[in-house]
Amino acid sequence: MKRFTASFFALPTAVLLLLSGCGNAVKEYEAVDTAMGTVVTQKLYTEGDNVTGDVERLLSDLEKTKLSRRIAGSEVAKLNANAGTGTYTEVSGELAETLQELSGIYEDSDGALDVSIGALVSLWDIDAHAQESYEDAGEQPDGTGGKTEGYHLPGEAEIKEALSYSGFSKIERKDNSFLLPEGMVLDLGAVGKGLACDDILAWLEEQAEVKAAVISVGGSILTYGEKPDGTAFKVAVTDPFDTGTYRGYLTLTGNWFVSTSGDYERFVEVDGKRYHHILNPATGYPAESGVKSVTILSKNGMISDALSTACFVLGEEKGRLLAEKYGVEALFILEDGNISMTEGMQEYFTEQTK
Ligand code: ADP
Ligand code: MG
Repeated sequence: MKRFTASFFALPTAVLLLLSGCGNAVKEYEAVDTAMGTVVTQKLYTEGDNVTGDVERLLSDLEKTKLSRRIAGSEVAKLNANAGTGTYTEVSGELAETLQELSGIYEDSDGALDVSIGALVSLWDIDAHAQESYEDAGEQPDGTGGKTEGYHLPGEAEIKEALSYSGFSKIERKDNSFLLPEGMVLDLGAVGKGLACDDILAWLEEQAEVKAAVISVGGSILTYGEKPDGTAFKVAVTDPFDTGTYRGYLTLTGNWFVSTSGDYERFVEVDGKRYHHILNPATGYPAESGVKSVTILSKNGMISDALSTACFVLGEEKGRLLAEKYGVEALFILEDGNISMTEGMQEYFTEQTK
């Protein structure tokens, strides 16, 4: 009996050794697609099949079922549809948790990040105009500005009215049910891509055959695992003054989230003035805080995306304080071309010499 037990346990070890001796080759797959209104690029290192299509499906499901305010039936669309009706809308536990976190960031950023400014975002309509121009020009949304023709620049009175509907703290909550006041429109555009990266990481962690990945969803990037050749990931930081080039790069190993918010991503130009897509909820106008872009490095995708937007609105000084409060690293490219970063960021960032 004893002998039997010994050989019984010896067998799986031998099989395992044999398997690892054969060693499944790690293959590299790349994909470029669009989802969530932005470009998605993937690089996967896997011993299994090409699963880039699964990642794309995960993103379009997230958009359809949860985050899009334009797709009727998504959780956010339902919340918006019930604004001002007195009817609470029950949402998934995950979205309830996200809204709770967003409430905290709203408070901690003094309202600089306010996902309840959907009416104001619609009024400015910068995303749509910036995108129309890409389509007209047959280009990818890579930072080219929008056309001015047909663009209606909002007036003071319209801005004031749109702002009167916003204010995250006006949202009522009962368990996982939420009630928005009349006219309020939730727009999770500032955090959607980071949330998507969080979901992708959770999914990748269940795919034992996937060894490493670098996935970018617009301005939010996820690095995962360890590349087969053992080298680190290099994540470029765009030069906001020359968007086809890089100002530097982050050297990362393992799982990280990097989000960048910049005034060059989506904008329209009217009479030579640039109106970009990151709005200051305090003024109702595109934020002017002395920064051209903010890059956040974090262990949480939603936080990295939320704080890149919030820090862009707040500017360098207050932005740094917010980054410190959340334990993330931040890099600001300032309007005068200088770079300012948290102490911890220096370990990861290398400036590109031009
Ligand atoms: P991107 O979507 O280009 O990565 P951001 O993450 O900075 O950029 O998010 C910008 C989007 O968030 C805008 O297109 C708009 O939908 C929304 N938004 C703009 N300003 C704010 C703000 N102050 N707070 C919350 N959401 C905002
Ligand atoms: Mg953001």
